[in-house]
Amino acid sequence: MDLNYSPEETAFRDDVRGWLSEHLPAELRDKVVNYRELNKDDLLRWHRILAKKGWVAPEWPTEWGGTDWTVVERYIFEEEMGYAGAPPLIPFGLRMCAPVLLRFGTDEQKQKYLPRIYQGEDFWCQGYSEPGSGSDLASLKTRAVKQGDHYVVTGQKIWTTQAHFADWIFCLVRTDAKSDKRQEGISFLLIDMKTPGITVRPIILMDGGHDVNEVFFDEVKVPVENLVHDEGKGWTVAKYLLGYERMGTGRIGNSKRELQTLKELAARQMKDGKPLGEDPRFRDRLTRVEVELMALEITNLRFLDQLRGGRPPGAEVSMLKIKGTEIQQAITELMMQAAGPFAQAFRPVDNMDFDHFTARLAARYCNMRKTSIYAGSNEIQRNIIAKATLQL
Ligand SMILES: Cc1cc2nc3c(=O)[nH]c(=O)nc-3n(C[C@H](O)[C@H](O)[C@H](O)COP(=O)(O)OP(=O)(O)OC[C@H]3O[C@@H](n4cnc5c(N)ncnc54)[C@H](O)[C@@H]3O)c2cc1C
Repeated sequence: MDLNYSPEETAFRDDVRGWLSEHLPAELRDKVVNYRELNKDDLLRWHRILAKKGWVAPEWPTEWGGTDWTVVERYIFEEEMGYAGAPPLIPFGLRMCAPVLLRFGTDEQKQKYLPRIYQGEDFWCQGYSEPGSGSDLASLKTRAVKQGDHYVVTGQKIWTTQAHFADWIFCLVRTDAKSDKRQEGISFLLIDMKTPGITVRPIILMDGGHDVNEVFFDEVKVPVENLVHDEGKGWTVAKYLLGYERMGTGRIGNSKRELQTLKELAARQMKDGKPLGEDPRFRDRLTRVEVELMALEITNLRFLDQLRGGRPPGAEVSMLKIKGTEIQQAITELMMQAAGPFAQAFRPVDNMDFDHFTARLAARYCNMRKTSIYAGSNEIQRNIIAKATLQL
């Protein structure tokens, strides 16, 4: 097993790093590293810069704009973006809907949707979860009844990230309520968010931010040509897509950058007349997270080495999700500890300078609780590992 980058891979990393330092707009980087909310224009601006460079969809086939990079180069690119503080690429079009269309879509569907996703002309969201159907997704109830050349869709989706920005939503709907198995009778539909009968209602998270929504469908007419794969085969599509969703959850580059920020913060904060970074108990906690992060990176490199050899990782992807999100949360906890009362901007403390970065930490801490829930909760990921590797 080879866990080192080859000279070509190192040269590639330097190229990406150099390009990012020149082309990542400072104001976008500033928002990312200081935990300010990115709006739709920010997200699309970065998407279009990468599209112009030809780097927005590395994993797509080259005829649709893919870069033909090796898995290792794709990983390096991803990690360099995170380390540089680039805004995230919104995955719903690029990394969820597109792979599904490439695998299951008709030629017409590919021609219609893929170029618009690539150029950032359509903003997509994911309509899987429903009230009572999250981990138990196969229990979903939103129904689609075929009437001539349309489906009529009625029901509710929940936790729909960025539905308030979206032009399109891909949805799992029940087209046959009578099938013996719950996984059968589910279909995958592409729905234009401007269709009459759709209502988007915000859910404000505990940090006060607006990322997620409820989406209601009241007799929404969807043309039958918007069905992907066969009617009743939506579960096959859903499972294929979830594998893609979990590949990107490790976020090692991001965590490395944030760990560095944490060290700088700990060096600035004083405790008993000494920088907090020199406190043995704090250093112990910080080192544990750093070691975990190194172990995660090595695990990731191990998977990459497997992929290099043509063996796709299976349930192990769940390990990246669990550890990656635990580390992201642990860093926010240590940042809160390091900042102490500075992290509570809502409680002004006399004679304290106002620090914009630390003032956002409490909100950030609250927001990051979501990572162990979305993309399949960490408990569900543990079940997947147990079933696949322990044969339980
Ligand atoms: C910020 C955020 C963004 C999201 N974005 C989207 C989106 O864009 N589109 C979308 O479709 N969904 C989205 N989701 C929904 C997400 O996929 C679900 O929240 C998740 O799958 C959990 O489902 P649930 O909320 O219904 O919780 P439940 O399934 O009710 O689970 C509740 C608790 O029970 C545990 N649990 C459930 N079943 C088991 C089991 N068998 N064994 C052990 N423990 C179990 C869970 O781990 C969890 O802790 C998002 C969620 C969040 C928080």
